[in-house]
Amino acid sequence: NPLQGAQFILAAHQISQLPEDSGAEVAFAGRSNAGKSSALNALTGQKALARTSKTPGRTQQMVAFDLPAGRAAAGPRRLIDLPGYGYAKVPEALRAHWRQEIDAYLNQRRSLRGVILIMDIRHPLKDFDRMMLDFCEATGLACHVLLTKADKLSRNQAGQALLSMRKSLQALRPEGFSAQVFSSSDMTGVDTAREVVMGWLDA
Ligand code: GDP
Repeated sequence: NPLQGAQFILAAHQISQLPEDSGAEVAFAGRSNAGKSSALNALTGQKALARTSKTPGRTQQMVAFDLPAGRAAAGPRRLIDLPGYGYAKVPEALRAHWRQEIDAYLNQRRSLRGVILIMDIRHPLKDFDRMMLDFCEATGLACHVLLTKADKLSRNQAGQALLSMRKSLQALRPEGFSAQVFSSSDMTGVDTAREVVMGWLDA
């Protein structure tokens, strides 16, 4: 697993505090409680890389993780965990701050190769998700949706949810948007998601 060597570098309250904008990075976004921390842990094979929590609404930051070097001369590679909101009651001023910060990050970050957008398969396309897709569409960034907690649905229901998500994405932007079923609990789709992340980082 090439993501296994991920290591915490820093937590930032604004983009100016992020590591130098060189090499390649992939950002992870999702509403709070969607299952983003669990997905990061599953993808890196590290049980406690990202903090998982049953109590949403904890302090929000952008967290940067370093990956071991890839091809020579390709430069550093990172994963960025973006703050999520939407489930917990986050004050409007803080939402506005992050909306602005995320928008600026997606627009300005040259090393950013794509966004992994995590949604609870039972509650997809909430306001936060639509905002992320709009931002990605506006900047032409690739976005891959993980419909997580698929273990909570039957195989048939999960397949329906995926079809419906693909239709929505197709309507927004036929190329550059994709989706898959995922579960951190039973590891459904973990290999596929890892391939998407590595494909972006090594492109
Ligand atoms: P985050 O706020 O998006 O980082 O979400 P967490 O990863 O902390 O997960 C929120 C809650 O959903 C926790 O109680 C997790 O145990 C649970 N959870 C996360 N992923 C899955 C999954 O794939 N399946 C199931 N059944 N529960 C999950």
